[in-house]
Amino acid sequence: MGATLASFFQLLADRQPLGLDVVFTPSYCDSCFKQLAYYDLIPIFGYLRQHGHCRYCDHNIAPDSLIWEFIGGFSICWMASQNYLFNGHYLLVQILILQLAIFDAQHFYVDQLYLTQLFIIVILLWGSSLVTNLIPAILCFVVLTLLSYLSKGLGNADVQLISLALLAIGFTATLWLCLLTNLFILIHFLLRRTQTKFPFIPYFYIALLTLPLLPIK
Ligand SMILES: [Zn+2]
Repeated sequence: MGATLASFFQLLADRQPLGLDVVFTPSYCDSCFKQLAYYDLIPIFGYLRQHGHCRYCDHNIAPDSLIWEFIGGFSICWMASQNYLFNGHYLLVQILILQLAIFDAQHFYVDQLYLTQLFIIVILLWGSSLVTNLIPAILCFVVLTLLSYLSKGLGNADVQLISLALLAIGFTATLWLCLLTNLFILIHFLLRRTQTKFPFIPYFYIALLTLPLLPIK
């Protein structure tokens, strides 16, 4: 399920900014525009079976699709094995953050619609229990917005996501997530120094997977 959703979110990230249809137009090759067969669309296996090439024009398909399908599948299995997914409606929130992560990785920004949708879902699911973290979340939003404005490094979507995490899971858990996210970005930078700009949310999504292991309630 995770791999299939990751595959669909990549299609959304590809087509939505261009205003293309995402419901009725079947998947096609970006190079020769031929419609793909159903067996090419099976997540992970479709890519591996064709060795990352289009079966019609041999066009090279970026390994990103395979990586995201794997992360999507693995992350849902991992969180389910940790009894995390069905506890407090966490599954839906994780899926929505996966969508943000894939969009951010591709475009280095996130459509405000996705963030608003996540915000509404968090409020509907957790409701009155969010009140305890409301003031820290607002303060966090104000401080990070200021930092984002002064540094021009942190994106608006990142600020909103961190504030929302603080609202939903509290200060300690959010600090852990931010620390790990930045650590993962730093490690990636040290391994690949030519890349100077990093999307925040994909690494935040990976950091989310450590939640069951963190020394917090
Ligand atoms: Zn092709």
